[in-house]
Amino acid sequence: MLYFSLFSGEIYDSPTELTDPFQIPLKTKPANSCSKCHGRFYTCYLTTNKQYQICNKCVKKYVDAERLLRSVEANRINRKTS
Ligand SMILES: [Zn+2]
Repeated sequence: MLYFSLFSGEIYDSPTELTDPFQIPLKTKPANSCSKCHGRFYTCYLTTNKQYQICNKCVKKYVDAERLLRSVEANRINRKTS
């Protein structure tokens, strides 16, 4: 399963589904032809919160909303029970 890490700025393949809120699930790799991020999926690094800024153009196209929702939901439940 493809993820983008907000901390490292890398796109990587995970053998398992992650529910970490800082790992963004992707449907496919962003296209190199994107004029804003050139396939990196981020546009810059934010030193203030030490995270990569996701490309506005690619976010709608490549983020797997279904898996992202599941991850958000899982985190909500985790917080409730702990
Ligand atoms: Zn882009």
